[in-house]
Amino acid sequence: MGLQAQMVDRLAVMYAGHMVEVAPVENIFAEPLHPYTQLLIDSIPSIKERKPLKLTDGLTHDLRNPPPGCIFQARCPKVMDKCKSVPPKLEEIKAEHQVACLLYE
Ligand code: SF4
Repeated sequence: MGLQAQMVDRLAVMYAGHMVEVAPVENIFAEPLHPYTQLLIDSIPSIKERKPLKLTDGLTHDLRNPPPGCIFQARCPKVMDKCKSVPPKLEEIKAEHQVACLLYE
């Protein structure tokens, strides 16, 4: 993501073939909204700060047989009951910032 940020104006974050967040690069890094994007950004190594490698718990489900509801539910640290049955839609939450997550409904 760090390399991409130097080459593009807008970034689309995908998980398991689904677009989960789309925004200008500076917005994604300043205020990531989707839990997966937050984990990705948190895992970027820093030369200023020594920190342990952060891994996302859980496994990606079988992509041929996705669960009902949110595609990220098995690994999301903020999962809620409704995430297991309601598929989130990619919606504009802020100007030019779209996210697919039920936390923002
Ligand atoms: S919809 Fe639920 S499971 Fe999916 S990313 Fe948002 S909080 Fe996590």
